[in-house]
Amino acid sequence: MATLPSRKQLPPAYEPASVEARIYQRWERGGYFKPRLVPGAEPYCIIMPPPNVTGELHLGHGLEDALTDALVRWHRMQGDATLWVPGEDHAGIATQNVIERELAKEGLTRHDIGREAFLERTWEWVRRYRARIVEQHKRLGASADWDYDVFTLDPRIVRAVRTTFVNLYRDGLIYRGLRMINWCPRCETALSDLEVEYEQEPAKLYYVRYPIVGEGGMPLPDAIVVATTRPETMVADTGVAVNPSDPRYEERIGRWVLLPLVGREIPVVADEAVDPEFGTGALKVTPGHDPNDWEIGQRHSLEVIVAIDLKGRMNDEAGPYAGLSVDEAREAIVRDLADEGFLERVEDIVHSVGRCSRCRTTVEPLPSEQWFVAVNKEYEPGVSLASAAAEAVRSGRIRIVPQRFVKVYLNWLENIRDWCISRQLWWGHQIPVWYCDCGETIVQVDDPDRCPKCGSAELRQDPDVLDTWFSSALAPHADLGWPDDTEELRIFYPTSDMQMGYDIMFFWCARMVMFGLYNMRHRGPDGAIPFRTVLFHGLIRDAKGEKMTKSKGNVVDPLVAAAKYGADAFRFGLLANTTLGQDQKYSDERLEAARNFANKLWNSARFVLMRLGEHRIRRPHPADRETYALEDRWILSRLEGLMEDVDSLFRAYQVGEVGRRIEEFLWNEFCDWYIEMAKVRLAAGDQRPLDVLGHVLDYSLRLLHPIMPFVTEELWQHLRDHLPNDVPEMLIVAWYPKSGANWRDPAAEEAMEHVIAVNRAIRNVRAEKRLPAGERPAVFLRAGDFRAALEETLAATATLSRCVPELLPAGAALPEGEFAFDRVADTEIAVALPAVDRSEERRRLERELAEAEEYVQRLRAQLANEQFVAKAPARVVEGVRRNLEEAEERAAGLRERLAAL
Ligand SMILES: [Zn+2]
Ligand SMILES: [Zn+2]
Repeated sequence: MATLPSRKQLPPAYEPASVEARIYQRWERGGYFKPRLVPGAEPYCIIMPPPNVTGELHLGHGLEDALTDALVRWHRMQGDATLWVPGEDHAGIATQNVIERELAKEGLTRHDIGREAFLERTWEWVRRYRARIVEQHKRLGASADWDYDVFTLDPRIVRAVRTTFVNLYRDGLIYRGLRMINWCPRCETALSDLEVEYEQEPAKLYYVRYPIVGEGGMPLPDAIVVATTRPETMVADTGVAVNPSDPRYEERIGRWVLLPLVGREIPVVADEAVDPEFGTGALKVTPGHDPNDWEIGQRHSLEVIVAIDLKGRMNDEAGPYAGLSVDEAREAIVRDLADEGFLERVEDIVHSVGRCSRCRTTVEPLPSEQWFVAVNKEYEPGVSLASAAAEAVRSGRIRIVPQRFVKVYLNWLENIRDWCISRQLWWGHQIPVWYCDCGETIVQVDDPDRCPKCGSAELRQDPDVLDTWFSSALAPHADLGWPDDTEELRIFYPTSDMQMGYDIMFFWCARMVMFGLYNMRHRGPDGAIPFRTVLFHGLIRDAKGEKMTKSKGNVVDPLVAAAKYGADAFRFGLLANTTLGQDQKYSDERLEAARNFANKLWNSARFVLMRLGEHRIRRPHPADRETYALEDRWILSRLEGLMEDVDSLFRAYQVGEVGRRIEEFLWNEFCDWYIEMAKVRLAAGDQRPLDVLGHVLDYSLRLLHPIMPFVTEELWQHLRDHLPNDVPEMLIVAWYPKSGANWRDPAAEEAMEHVIAVNRAIRNVRAEKRLPAGERPAVFLRAGDFRAALEETLAATATLSRCVPELLPAGAALPEGEFAFDRVADTEIAVALPAVDRSEERRRLERELAEAEEYVQRLRAQLANEQFVAKAPARVVEGVRRNLEEAEERAAGLRERLAAL
């Protein structure tokens, strides 16, 4: 046997802090995060959902890192050319808000310092935070290719964004139009439908009389009563609408009413969109301030009046109410309506209010000039952005996991409206459109020097920027180099997997599919999809199930948790608690349990390493199966089963279950039973378990590596010297164990399960009878089928269950004395007891006998029932007969034992 160089001993306890940074540095310096482009290697690529550059990573990012890194490492260890592309998002409105808040502390607004200075300040912030975010990912063990790090405002992404904009514009898929948009008066920008959060809030419903106008413009005593939650917008009313089928208003359609306080005459129109059940069934129509009214107004050519300005104040159209805030105007108008007798009554209701998802300000619907993407317009016969995105999923070319989200995704695309992509912000991709005083509009990728029509150099770029999701939607093809035809794009596009929280399915996933299919359509349907599978994970809530927010103070910092428990325990704790698509509750206990698991693994590996000493492992070969002990064959068979399970679980993206399954094997089978039994053999001078110990530890570390990369790498580095010569430098690139089913041995598994069950039974008796730890009772085993297995493991049973076991032939008599009895399958167990507890044992046996006899009576009654015997299927009747026989046997055994007491 070759002697090994003396090596550093493993410290007695696992200290993540002393291991993680060192190991990560070795991986990174070794270039292991780069794809190994060797012939025959399958490409595997995944794009990191870029965190907002505004701050720090939160638990959700921690979960995403754990999930993605597990998949990435699993693929890398299978020899795939693996590329994980990291990135950060410029996060338009979110970042701008942060910088504006910083400015506000100095008493400044963005307008005080101007666009250029504002952007400079933002870039400074970004540089600082971006570096920090990268550092945070590294602390969690993310094996991404950092040389590839993409920021969504990088020059090459700018080019991809502009190219897309220009192409969409030339295809007629981008247009500028007056649309009812969601306006945040606080942020002073348009919001997409997705950036508005609706909440049920108490409100008042005002019933207002609109007098009918008679001949000659005189108001009649007759009136239509409308119900509204927004009386302040009545100054901009340009109609009243009723449902054409509503008999109450049949006579009124086509007549005119007089708008109270304002005195303007407005028509009564009939529109199907009016709900006769709401309020009085008559609706005041304010096309300038309500998206539904906008639609009604369009259908009936009603005038659009805008009475609220971009800061949320009433303008000159509001007459005497001009200059008031919306709330003040509401108060004043309600008071005036009441004074003049137009207010019929007020009701308390609960209705839904839209709020800005960034600042919680009530959103004001306003008509405004904005840029839109026409998602339903065809760019090829029968193909629009939305229809293509739906078809890619419907046809199965893109797989959604869990599958139930397919319906949600398709439903959204079927009802999608044009996407408002302009934002009145400074931070972001400024829209590549320039205007000349001569009236020319220039839309192109590069900044123009002169107007192509009049030659003027005085061009104004559109001041708006694009919705942040416009650039995000270009991942993955822009990240991989598009519009250039790069090697990465050729190798890694379509990417393999994508993962995100289900909460951004519409913001991001659907739009990535739209833009990917559009920009890459020259590749054909199969080649244009951005990714083959998308996983939606849930959100992490606090222990009570509440959403984590800074304002509630229940946010958990992933780095603090990882520092406390170790990055591995953090990853394992989150993953093992994850079921895709479902929210999870965060708990310290889970991370503690994961840390205990890491420690258990450390201690067991430490034992194995110490016992290995100078031994070099010879891998167990199935051809030598017969030379191995029962427990060897058992653990090797269990390991095969584990490899099979892990493989199919990974393929089904059940990464959390992978972790749970490996833990179960390592803890309950390898550590608790195999190692303990091996100790007994080693102590007796039998060296054969060493190869099995080393081999199973090696494979277990490989299997667990994707989920707990640090502790496994550290242990493997120590184990490596004992392994056969064909292993690589580091575990991160060692091949992942795959089952060849060679060691599968159902008979050994059944026999060992029996041995374990017998040992458990002996331990139960020890616990029930409260035998002192030092007491080693005689245990008699009357065995049937498992006699050989019990015999082979008798020495282990003696140590593991602290007893003096003896095998008896079936039917053999027990020696004189007190016993506690149990039975596992056909093995009878008799544990000799100190002679004190006869009465308790008698009570227990009497209780069991009573139960057994009652059961016998019940079964006999059933068989005595002629109807049952005649009508029930033969096998059912036969089953009852068999049960009865067994029950009678059991009762007889109990009676015998009672008699022996
Ligand atoms: Zn806002
Ligand atoms: Zn011009």
